[in-house]
Amino acid sequence: QEALDKSLEKSREGLFSKITKAVVGKSTVDEDVLDELEEILVTSDVGVQTTLKIISRIEARVAEDKYVNTSELNGILRGEIQKLLSENNSNDFRNFEYGSHKPYVIMVVGVNGVGKTTTIGKLAHKLKLAGNKVVLGAADTFRAAAVDQIKLWGERVGVRVVAQPMGSDPASVAFDTLQSAVANGDDVAIIDTAGRLHNKVALMNELTKIKQVMQKVVPGAPHEILLVLDASTGQNAIEQCKQFTQATEVNALALTKLDGTAKGGVVIGISDQFKIPVKYIGVGEGIDHLQLFNKQEFVDSLFK
Ligand code: GDP
Repeated sequence: QEALDKSLEKSREGLFSKITKAVVGKSTVDEDVLDELEEILVTSDVGVQTTLKIISRIEARVAEDKYVNTSELNGILRGEIQKLLSENNSNDFRNFEYGSHKPYVIMVVGVNGVGKTTTIGKLAHKLKLAGNKVVLGAADTFRAAAVDQIKLWGERVGVRVVAQPMGSDPASVAFDTLQSAVANGDDVAIIDTAGRLHNKVALMNELTKIKQVMQKVVPGAPHEILLVLDASTGQNAIEQCKQFTQATEVNALALTKLDGTAKGGVVIGISDQFKIPVKYIGVGEGIDHLQLFNKQEFVDSLFK
């Protein structure tokens, strides 16, 4: 919680201290307060749609009880935000879904620069610490440094990496990785993929091919299609989420770089718009700076 509190410092200041200012000197939640609240939420990257939803719920509440005072506003807002955040059932890297699938296969997608490789490294570290045998598959064979970067993380964390030379067929790397995982009795296989978004059809075809090939080795794989998004890019992250969910069946999100950004509100907008669980959050560059998302903790931290 402490690391999270520190990470969300800017978001908290940017978003919620403004709310305090908006309500100073006012006893009840009137139109002016709501207008200001709307502006604050939009500028904090909650997104217009989600902001309007929040505002209309508060309006309804105010209509019910004309004397809702401004000091109650925080509590109401907090409750509404918590309702919009997607639920993540995992609260431990050990008793994750991993147990029921062996290997549990995670295919990681996302555009370059969002923190995909770092997230894979951190996740491997957390999973290993929790007692899982982990293997990484370097199937981003497109970007020059990607394979080397994954190898470095593999060394750092102390997990195996399956790789082929740059330019190899990503599906073939994924196939090799899963075969190796099965042979080695690994618990989790994490497969990196290339983050080319400028050609959506090519991206879709590539991901589909990787999935099909995986299923030849592990039926039901990938169990998790994890989209990594950079929270500090605010509305860009939402746009990327749109694009990737159209290209493949994303069922988990990792939001990186929540530290040092005032755009933490984007977590709320993304949860509300896409209804895909935010599973992991990145709160720094270090190997330990990955957390399982917990909406209660998130809200606590945002309203601290
Ligand atoms: P990729 O191109 O998506 O694989 O991105 P990288 O994993 O190489 O990360 C890009 C940059 O973002 C690197 O400098 C990382 O250290 C940094 N980064 C990744 N995750 C986080 C995070 O949660 N917080 C911060 N502050 N930096 C991060």
